[in-house]
Amino acid sequence: MMLTGKIAVVTGGSRGIGRAISLRLASMGAMVYINYVSRPDAAEETKKIIEQDGGKAELIQFDIGDAEQVQEAMKKVVSEAGSIDILVNNAGITRDGLMARMKESDWDDVINTNLKGAFLCSKGVSKPMMKKKWGRIVNISSVIGFSGNSGQVNYASAKAGLTGLTKSMAREYASRNITINCVAPGYIVTEMTESMADAAQEKILSEIPMASLGTPEDVAAAVAYLVSDDARYITGQTLHVNGGMYM
Ligand code: NDP
Repeated sequence: MMLTGKIAVVTGGSRGIGRAISLRLASMGAMVYINYVSRPDAAEETKKIIEQDGGKAELIQFDIGDAEQVQEAMKKVVSEAGSIDILVNNAGITRDGLMARMKESDWDDVINTNLKGAFLCSKGVSKPMMKKKWGRIVNISSVIGFSGNSGQVNYASAKAGLTGLTKSMAREYASRNITINCVAPGYIVTEMTESMADAAQEKILSEIPMASLGTPEDVAAAVAYLVSDDARYITGQTLHVNGGMYM
């Protein structure tokens, strides 16, 4: 139980990869605040699974792209739990389309949630972490932020931006014993990828040396390592979890 006594906030912790991260951190002893924005049912279910396994969790609904909501939410966690030790910036959305046809609102929505959301949440937890002189922030990026992808200029830009955020924050906060790292998943089986056409899935499989999609648990294991004491001297890095798809 390496995280006993630690308080964690997992954005988009209610389903998909975020749910696996919430379950994993709770199984390591952390008290997990599960963030969601629109589907309380999924969040409730995640909380129930954690509690059935003997772990501790609370729900916290807020839109990560809304500065006021983020500030209120982080204040609430600190006043209830006393601090925030771990933040996993996991929540993300897609609004795919070829560049020529992409609406400005599709660009803005994805940048606002996937990039600005991570900035706002990280800013929100930085004070309590500095006070404690301990903190772990993990940003969930994507292989697409490194390779690019046709039909995803908004998503690729946001995910590539997370690398800059991670490295710059890592430099700013290293002396306070706060590490900031990225995990960049390849293709993982969740609702986000289930909607892909069969032909697209087959093409992707042909590009993965390990010849299978990853699981949310594969990503959660990487996050678990980066927030543990074993990773205390690692900051500003990206851990790729992609079956060899991008090296
Ligand atoms: P899902 O679509 O399955 O889940 C998204 C989660 O994010 C939900 O919990 C959702 O909450 C939450 N969310 C969305 N928008 C907001 C918002 N504005 N504020 C707060 N919460 C929000 O996604 P995945 O599990 O597939 O992906 C998780 C992360 O991993 C994302 O950042 C994604 O880009 C990244 N990733 C995923 C890959 C994959 O193959 N699946 C590959 C590489 C990276 P609610 O249900 O309440 O709307």
